[in-house]
Amino acid sequence: MSNYEPVIGLETHVQLGTSSKMFCGCATDFAAAPNSQVCPVCLGYPGSLPVPNEVAVEYTVRAGLMLGCDINLYSKFDRKSYFYPDMPKNYQITQYDMPLCLAGAVEIDLNGDSRVVRLRRIHLEEDTGKNVHFARTSGVDFNRAGTPLMEIVTEPDIYSADEAMAYLQALKQLMLYAGVSECNLEEGNFRCDVNCSVRPVGSDALGVKTELKNLNTFKGIHAALSFEIDRQLNLAASGAEIHQETRRWDVDAGITATMRTKEDAHDYRYFPDPDLAPIVLAREQVDRWRDELPEAPRARRVRMIEQYGIPAYDAGVLVAEKAIADFYEEAAQSSPNPKAVSNWVMTEMLRLLSERDMQIAEAHITPAALAELVGLVDDKTLNSNSAREVFGILFQDGGRAADIVEARGLTQVSDEGLLDQFVDQAIADNPDSAGDYRDGKTKALQFLMGQVMRLSKGKANPQSVQELLRSKLGG
Ligand code: ADP
Ligand code: MG
Ligand code: ZN
Repeated sequence: MSNYEPVIGLETHVQLGTSSKMFCGCATDFAAAPNSQVCPVCLGYPGSLPVPNEVAVEYTVRAGLMLGCDINLYSKFDRKSYFYPDMPKNYQITQYDMPLCLAGAVEIDLNGDSRVVRLRRIHLEEDTGKNVHFARTSGVDFNRAGTPLMEIVTEPDIYSADEAMAYLQALKQLMLYAGVSECNLEEGNFRCDVNCSVRPVGSDALGVKTELKNLNTFKGIHAALSFEIDRQLNLAASGAEIHQETRRWDVDAGITATMRTKEDAHDYRYFPDPDLAPIVLAREQVDRWRDELPEAPRARRVRMIEQYGIPAYDAGVLVAEKAIADFYEEAAQSSPNPKAVSNWVMTEMLRLLSERDMQIAEAHITPAALAELVGLVDDKTLNSNSAREVFGILFQDGGRAADIVEARGLTQVSDEGLLDQFVDQAIADNPDSAGDYRDGKTKALQFLMGQVMRLSKGKANPQSVQELLRSKLGG
């Protein structure tokens, strides 16, 4: 009996971050009151005419360039016919045989190996409305109808659920870098159709595939795909036939189930949209967009390891989000200690941002202020306690680190005489702990250090305190 392996191809709908819809001026705000962002065009009224959103075309081309696609200077819009309540025109405007982008690739990293997932195409289309079901009735919210989407289609180049995740993470990061989508999964900005088949290991042929429709969380995609792979592997192992069909993921039951079979496949009757002229792009314009591309995250990571001498782990965390990497690099470039800058960004900065559910652009700390703070720790003006306090103030209110240190009197106390006094007092106030330490209970030293820090209002140089305590207690 031969062994089987899964083969997967993904079609990802990425909502473009435009402020208006694809063919009309309606807003694309999420969570607006139902049917408050609609007009005759996106409601498909007879006689209304679509006007293409140039920003959506630009974003799709920028995305394609980011993914190494070939850009078609001449492409067109087609009508895809189908009849659903959430589709007011009874057709969707999409791109059929002449999409904006062809080929391209996404490099993925998995368990230390890197691989390439080839892309087939990216086309531009409009979203549908949304059916909403109540207890006794159903409604349709057309706010989303006509929202611009890119559909990014891979070759069947993915071989496990984990690889599918790695691909989606990489794709999301690249789209955020390109600045074409907010990639907000909770708001449905990233939705996937998952195509899956199995074949005997070693075979190049493709097996019969099933398609899982419209999955909108990474967790859901992983769970649904894992289930579907197992289902097909079991069928193949028992010699049963796999049917070509569309399946849906039942979250509650944790299974995939038949939605429609090949027999009720749609006849989409694609034809060029007679209301829309072909999209013609100037080569110079595309070249300009290519020149404006940001450095790709993988290349940036390698460069940052080299340029700042930081560990690969740090570089990976920092480049995960472009705005974080930008902030880091600006601070690191004006600091002699780029590793310390990385520590601050990876720990305090990311912690405060996630605790307060903020973007880095909303924090008041500047890269220059962080570099200055690192300098004040390195020249022993600040101990780490006080430095964290200063960081918190910079984050909250902005300003210069040295000004905050001065205003709050946070300069570290290294003055031997003063420290001597604090240490003597801590020992005198806590004879039991001092005794414990002399009896070999080294933990007691931590407690006494804490007392000295308290007496110094957190400003004592901890290293000096420890040395003094040890010498006075005969440690
Ligand atoms: P459809 O016409 O059903 O949409 P396509 O050939 O256009 O199918 O491919 C859609 C997606 O499915 C692509 O991402 C492609 O890589 C993937 N795909 C196609 N055939 C298979 C297969 N046999 N197994 C797994 N994925 C496949
Ligand atoms: Mg399909
Ligand atoms: Zn509209």
